[in-house]
Amino acid sequence: MDFKGALRKIKDDGRYIDAKIVAIQLPEGMKRWIGEITEELRGKELIFVGDPFWGACDIPQNGNWDLLIQFGHSPIPNLGSFKNVIFEEIQEGLDFDISPERVPFKSLILTSNVTYSNQLPKIKRKLEDSGIKVTLRKGDSRVFYPGQILGCNISSARGVEENVLFVGEGMFHPLGIALGLPDKKVVAFNPKTGEYIDMEGERRRFLAQRYSAIDLASRANRFGIIVSTKIGQTRYSIARIASRILVESGRSPFIITLDLVRDEELVNFPAEVYVNTACPRVTVEDYGTFSRPVISFYELQMALGLKDKSRYIFDEIVMTDEIGSSGFGKRD
Ligand code: SF4
Repeated sequence: MDFKGALRKIKDDGRYIDAKIVAIQLPEGMKRWIGEITEELRGKELIFVGDPFWGACDIPQNGNWDLLIQFGHSPIPNLGSFKNVIFEEIQEGLDFDISPERVPFKSLILTSNVTYSNQLPKIKRKLEDSGIKVTLRKGDSRVFYPGQILGCNISSARGVEENVLFVGEGMFHPLGIALGLPDKKVVAFNPKTGEYIDMEGERRRFLAQRYSAIDLASRANRFGIIVSTKIGQTRYSIARIASRILVESGRSPFIITLDLVRDEELVNFPAEVYVNTACPRVTVEDYGTFSRPVISFYELQMALGLKDKSRYIFDEIVMTDEIGSSGFGKRD
């Protein structure tokens, strides 16, 4: 990771040169770099955003600063342009190169998280030189790079091809592909450890968890519907539909807005089940941290008998209620 190089590039950006107060938003794993940042960016008044964040969907709206530098994520194109935000992805090289003989497919769709999207053209060439047919496809307007997957958007992995290879660390992104595209075989290659993981076991394990939550929801009466206040996660429109279909089925819903979706914030509300319209990571990856079941909008429809349960639908975000930004301010 060329962190110093990234900081030097930022210093040449006109937005940085013009700014007096600069806010820095760092993923948890990069917070230890505060010393290097303070040293390299001396001369500016720096403010470090302490709240955890997981994506470019989370641009703080109320800060008293001229410029925000967000590390670790690429822009989300359909949220519009934020003229006072620099997105510095910090992309990485491969500690372990791809080994075509360990890839169990003759043809595949190639995907990654943002960290390795710069490596995909090189990986594609190497796989093709070994006779593997590779498709590298740009997804919808929520993703920036060809092949890029978000935890809330797997559009780059769609297509008639039967297999998907994901390059990156962690299970959340390839799990989303496995849950959302049940007809495809998914293998995750971790370039930090050199591991190749068949996602079928994880898919089965999480589907069992999801159907158990759907079953609990089908018997519940009082539902809390969660709406995120984060600019790229806000889906009141879906929450209102959820509320309406719950009322129509004789249940009692109420809507809750919050920034960080955690059990601590929800525990005092009298809900039997939560319907999460915020980041899908909350429903899938954080599920075990909540004291009551948390389901997605699509899972709610399955629970109410409005959608066929036999074909699981993964909750993806394309459109939010806050499309078309031009700055920090709240949009009309
Ligand atoms: S909604 Fe969740 S998965 Fe999507 S960009 Fe934001 S943090 Fe990532």
